[in-house]
Amino acid sequence: MEQMKLSAKITVCRYNELSSDEKILVDEARAALLAAYAPYSRFRVGAAARLADGRIVRGSNQENASFPAGLCAERTALFSAGALAPDVPVEAIALAAEADGVPTLAPITPCGICRQVMLETENRYKKPLRILMCGRDEVYIASSVRDLLPLAFSL
Ligand SMILES: [Zn+2]
Repeated sequence: MEQMKLSAKITVCRYNELSSDEKILVDEARAALLAAYAPYSRFRVGAAARLADGRIVRGSNQENASFPAGLCAERTALFSAGALAPDVPVEAIALAAEADGVPTLAPITPCGICRQVMLETENRYKKPLRILMCGRDEVYIASSVRDLLPLAFSL
């Protein structure tokens, strides 16, 4: 019997340490959360996906009284990007959140289903997807969803 040791590489930085492109993407994610429809959780999430041609596609969580019908901000952005520009790779996505109008102190990280969708995005375009997860003061950066989803499911 042997054991596998899995590891992830996450860069932790502050907003002012980001590149100008990264700052723009984070700003877009923070703006996107204002469009969230979250009357049940009052937890707003914004996402901003940067496409290879420079376009930025926003997403936000969209809840529903029938809870499973709602959709996370990350998938709203990625599916929208896929619908708008199916042949243009997605290179990065930024996430931001607030609870009851207050930015989350800890960086927001994607749920398991969104990680799986991010993996499919990487596989689809054969490019790593950079993920910027924002908190009030810090940003976690993963250079690929594989750092957030070890032993990922695939067919
Ligand atoms: Zn999710």
